[in-house]
Amino acid sequence: MSETTTTGTAQIGVTGLAVMGRNLARNFARHGYTVAVHNRSFAKTQSLVDEAGHEGAFVPSESMADFVASLERPRKVVVMVKAGGPTDAVIEELVPLLEEGDIVIDAGNAHFPDTIRRERALREHGLHFVGTGVSGGEEGALNGPSIMPGGTAESYKWLGPILEDISAKVDGVPCCTYVGPDGAGHFVKMVHNGIEYADMQLIAEAYDLIRQATGASAAQIGTTFEAWNAGDLESFLIEITADVLQHVDAETGSAFVDVILDQAEQKGTGRWTVQNALDLGVPITGIAEATFARALSGSVPQREAGRAALTADAAAWDVADKEAFVEDVRLALYASKVVAYSQGFDQIAAASAENGWDIDRGAMARIWRGGCIIRARFLNRITEAYERNPELPLLLADPYFADAVAQGVAAWRRVVAAAATHGVPVPAFSSSLAYYDGVRAERLPAALIQAQRDFFGAHTYRRVDKDGTFHTEWSGDRTETEQ
Ligand code: NAP
Repeated sequence: MSETTTTGTAQIGVTGLAVMGRNLARNFARHGYTVAVHNRSFAKTQSLVDEAGHEGAFVPSESMADFVASLERPRKVVVMVKAGGPTDAVIEELVPLLEEGDIVIDAGNAHFPDTIRRERALREHGLHFVGTGVSGGEEGALNGPSIMPGGTAESYKWLGPILEDISAKVDGVPCCTYVGPDGAGHFVKMVHNGIEYADMQLIAEAYDLIRQATGASAAQIGTTFEAWNAGDLESFLIEITADVLQHVDAETGSAFVDVILDQAEQKGTGRWTVQNALDLGVPITGIAEATFARALSGSVPQREAGRAALTADAAAWDVADKEAFVEDVRLALYASKVVAYSQGFDQIAAASAENGWDIDRGAMARIWRGGCIIRARFLNRITEAYERNPELPLLLADPYFADAVAQGVAAWRRVVAAAATHGVPVPAFSSSLAYYDGVRAERLPAALIQAQRDFFGAHTYRRVDKDGTFHTEWSGDRTETEQ
């Protein structure tokens, strides 16, 4: 580590000045902070200072050493470069230039196990490493993102006030709070993105159902979403959906949504969320179905083969009472959304317990109310639920949500049943309903699975009527022995 004790004047530094880093740096500057700025290639630094220099105090540096020297201590360095190898490369360059107590903040989209590894490595150098989730894209980075910082509680004392300052605010409350040690911040950001996948898929299914069942145009459905946005479903994603559906393609005059190839892409955070849920054994069926639905949409040869060979054997769909059907879809969407969020918060609870992160789930819902893609009115209700019971084992079982879903459950069943009857795929709606019925079931057929496992693999089972673990001699005289 550096022997230098040079102390600069910049209160925070940003290295990596592509779209996200540049906007974060401007956000800091606009809030009155003196911001040290650096990029591997100087052109981006120069362009930031040329174009946004009037917005606040920037201290540009060409070299990493000058950049580090321009920061006051403890230095707070935000790394906003491409995730993966580039982040490691920048950290490797930074570490020898820093001094004990300095704070390195990785605000990129790192996978949380990488954050755990980096935090451990930097701790050995006496440095704080803060892996922080930042949501809201380039607009959020400039005008107020939702920020999810991990790392040490001590580093948050230095960093928290600055990050809270530049974060989005809802009712005057910052959309930023300390999440938990090492990888907790990036983990929560990952689950946020997973929930975003589920929310988007559910909205897409709602749109498809209404279009197929009622024959309404994209624009008409857009106005329906606009109306929904005035109620319980109010959210950024519903708002932009209403806008997109009413947008007309300038070139063809068609509904914009009709000229877009129906193959959804992904950068991988949905996949990470599902992989982690499998490791933890947490059923996040909404997120998983949403991730697989994107994969199916992009399975071009399989879809071609399916279109050619598979029949629907289903009647054409033309609902008689269109208004009632649309209301059913609204209720089904809300109920499915509650399930997807409930599952995401379960995953946070499980990872928090496994890693000793002690994540406050109500606080996570609070910092997602603004700045991020899943911002929604409904998140207030989640915060309230965890305030009522911080140990709530199932968000869905909170009295408010249990009641809200109960009011829509008959509609939910009608919608899923009708979709199946008419051959319209609704994987997120239907899997959420199956989860709901599974988690509330008095008794599940898992008993039969246990018997099967004992039959072929002597895996043993437990009984409903007495304690202990048992095995039956299936190939012998079928006596039961306690193990
Ligand atoms: P990006 O395209 O992911 O990365 C470009 C930046 O990384 C440039 O500053 C580039 O420097 C630098 N870089 C790449 N390889 C490097 C290396 N080996 N050494 C040093 N610097 C290197 O930029 P971005 O879109 O602004 O995103 C930054 C981070 O934020 C990423 O982790 C991204 O996943 C995350 N994020 C992005 C969004 C979004 O909406 N875009 C939202 C949330 C989070 P040069 O200019 O010298 O090439």
